[in-house]
Amino acid sequence: MSNGHPSTNSNEDFRIVLPQSRLPTHWYNILADLPTPLPPVLHPATRQPITPADLAPLFPMGLIEQEVSSERYIPIPEAVRDIYRLWRPTPLIRAVRLEKALDTPAHIYYKYEGSSPSGSHKLNTSVAQAYYNKLEGVQRISTETGAGQWGSALAIAGDFFKIAIEIFMVKISYEQKPYRRSVMQTYGANVTPSPSDRTNAGRTILARNPNSTGSLGIAISEAVEVAATSGGTTKYSLGSVLNHVLLHQTVVGQEALEGMAEAGEYPDVVIGCVGGGSNFAGLAYPFLYKNLTEGKQTRFIAVEPSSCPSLTKGLYAYDFGDTVGLTPLIKMYTLGHDFEPAAIHAGGLRYHGMAPTISALVRSGHIEPRAYTQNACFEAGVMFARQEGIIPAPETTHAIRAVIDEALAARETGEKKVILFNLSGHGHFDMAAYDAYLAGRLVDNGFSDADLVKSLATVPQV
Ligand SMILES: *Cc1c(COP(=O)(O)O)cnc(C)c1O
Repeated sequence: MSNGHPSTNSNEDFRIVLPQSRLPTHWYNILADLPTPLPPVLHPATRQPITPADLAPLFPMGLIEQEVSSERYIPIPEAVRDIYRLWRPTPLIRAVRLEKALDTPAHIYYKYEGSSPSGSHKLNTSVAQAYYNKLEGVQRISTETGAGQWGSALAIAGDFFKIAIEIFMVKISYEQKPYRRSVMQTYGANVTPSPSDRTNAGRTILARNPNSTGSLGIAISEAVEVAATSGGTTKYSLGSVLNHVLLHQTVVGQEALEGMAEAGEYPDVVIGCVGGGSNFAGLAYPFLYKNLTEGKQTRFIAVEPSSCPSLTKGLYAYDFGDTVGLTPLIKMYTLGHDFEPAAIHAGGLRYHGMAPTISALVRSGHIEPRAYTQNACFEAGVMFARQEGIIPAPETTHAIRAVIDEALAARETGEKKVILFNLSGHGHFDMAAYDAYLAGRLVDNGFSDADLVKSLATVPQV
């Protein structure tokens, strides 16, 4: 160890990029391996288990089949793999400088999903979703976006597959973040501030409050309505939560498995931030498979904001996915479907519910949930940027906070823990948030028991 490199027990390749010949050929479907089957999804009106036909107005059959499939491995179409090749496999990087700064014996690895053209993991599913819609002759896809990350990813995918993209963007973001809108428009998407007068849902809200600045729940209602009333030409798309979305993200974890093997290591702890759960599941599930079937004992930590603590403070119950109550009822950890999270900067983590598979695996003890306040997260994000050079998205700083705490715990016990996390996106679109943090203007919003009682009161009795 005289060459100035930090010491390591494994080989000294700190940045592992698999060749494109090793791009995954299949997605991994955890529904095949869950310790107990998921509770059924219920129709919002009849409260009976929904059928594929109930979902057909909103989603193409290819995606509905994936939503309920029990096949362990589902082939990735070549047309989707061809587009994945634009940025995949993504690099697996060992954060050696961060390890040194923390003076920890832990080895810290991250999968860098911010290296995609849209700057986050979301393109892994938007490309697949656009493909299956195109295959079935759908002409247009409607969706909602809050801060714009999902809208941008779907806009790119729509452009690649020549399918029109209709985005309802929460009005406050539309006005405050005009360049996010420009990103989507550059790829040819049509962007409407929500609430709008284009839908019944939007008109109802505006009649009640002409100055409404919108919410994700309202934008979902508008996008769903546009698809449901289109006579089949338009379908709806969601960027997280659903089984098929998490499925598409498993390219991340499968590549990470191979990358870690190249590094000669295996993670003791896998960490990700959770909004609806897709980036966490995408990295974690291929490793969780090894816990479930091969006796591995990796820990899995899902990190959420203290001000939107669905996993750590919510109820495991049937609830709606949207605010208005149009979507099917899903058994999940929820804070109540009309819960309005504080305006924290990690916009992608402001969702009242959680993916059903993550919810079930938290319930069964396979995944540990954890919550942090935003100042603690930005502190971790800035430390990471100053050591590793990458400015993480505000969402991702939640994962990094947990990584740093685990690495510091390893320093206390002297254990050489191997920690792996998903760097779900870069923060270049979020400099206003960093600006507020650096100026000491970030507020740590509390979440009182009274808030909780109030928001849980709207969870339907099923
Ligand atoms: C959308 C987003 C998230 C949260 O969504 P998940 O489905 O929970 O992954 C996290 N990080 C980034 C960068 C995002 O854009």
